[in-house]
Amino acid sequence: MKLSSSSQIEELAHFKTYPYQATSFYLNTDKSQQPLKAINAAAKALINQARQELEGKSLPPEVKSSVETDLKKISQFCQKKISSFKSPGLAIFSSSGQNYWLEMELPHGPRNRVIIDFDFYTKPLTAILEKFKKMCVFLINRKEARWYEIYLGEIRLIDSLMSNVPKKVKKGGFEGNEARKIERHIEAHLLEHFKKSAEKTFDILKRNQFDWLLVGCDDEFYSQLESLFHSYLKEKLKGRIKARPDTAESRIFRECFEFEVQLNRTQEEELVKKFIGELERGGLAVAGLADSLRKLNSFEAQSLLITHNFSHPGRVCPKCHNLYIKEESCLICEAKTEPAVDIVDEAVELALTRGLPVYQVNPPTRLKHYGDIGVYLKYKAQT
Ligand SMILES: [Zn+2]
Repeated sequence: MKLSSSSQIEELAHFKTYPYQATSFYLNTDKSQQPLKAINAAAKALINQARQELEGKSLPPEVKSSVETDLKKISQFCQKKISSFKSPGLAIFSSSGQNYWLEMELPHGPRNRVIIDFDFYTKPLTAILEKFKKMCVFLINRKEARWYEIYLGEIRLIDSLMSNVPKKVKKGGFEGNEARKIERHIEAHLLEHFKKSAEKTFDILKRNQFDWLLVGCDDEFYSQLESLFHSYLKEKLKGRIKARPDTAESRIFRECFEFEVQLNRTQEEELVKKFIGELERGGLAVAGLADSLRKLNSFEAQSLLITHNFSHPGRVCPKCHNLYIKEESCLICEAKTEPAVDIVDEAVELALTRGLPVYQVNPPTRLKHYGDIGVYLKYKAQT
């Protein structure tokens, strides 16, 4: 099934696997970012890593065997299905002891991971839902208007409207007053068509809680149309596109998708530029894995900025959950630290648990020159 609503996530989060464990598997299957070989290798590595972790856990034999079956089934699924898998992300939730299995196509590549726990791990799904904008596309010409919804990689026609606007008169057919009268008559009809359409757009936006409004219409109508927009519509209005009511759905979808990618790209670039500015001014920011972890450990971090899918091994203190790259024993409580396959993932988790915003930036990004990770600080560090 495809990830399409928060109710799916709630259902998963509330599913009780007790006394068995819940295996959650996330894989970035975005073939535009990486070759198939790399995806297969990542899947294999994740499953091997999970098997090793499982060996070290003390669990009742039937619980352990349930997880073993989960991993075996996931591994088989990957071997058979990944080469033809179309979505940029895959999630599998399995609890064999409960006979539970769910595979999900994701509209965005997640961080690779397997988590074996008492409940299914759904945080990445929530993050994906938050990332995607729900777009309303409003297309209008002289006689027709159409409204589409674009959300989570899908397009759907919501509504349409036809108005009986007379055709433009040919030049030279009528003279003087008569021609002007006809022109006014047509304009009145056209204005009525625009008014009706603008009102309907308002109703549709209110009813469906869209994040963005995109408009496609000829330049000659645009200012008149926009002047009819309620202030609520103007707030949601993100830009204009080339599509018209008679454009094919697949083309509308592609244009809006590119629009979203471009807008996200611009926002990410601004975010990184602002961050680097703060760093170079010696302000409230640090970059690089070692410093970022230190500031997270000391509760000085205010938000976290990372390159999407940047990962690095490290160590975690099992007692106070401090994060390290290499420390064998915790600098705070002196407990022996445990290896973590991906310390960046642990940092993201820690930030989210503390309610700190985590911004992921798609590569290529200038953040790479600063170690692919950084944090904004709450206050100026003592030097
Ligand atoms: Zn510690």
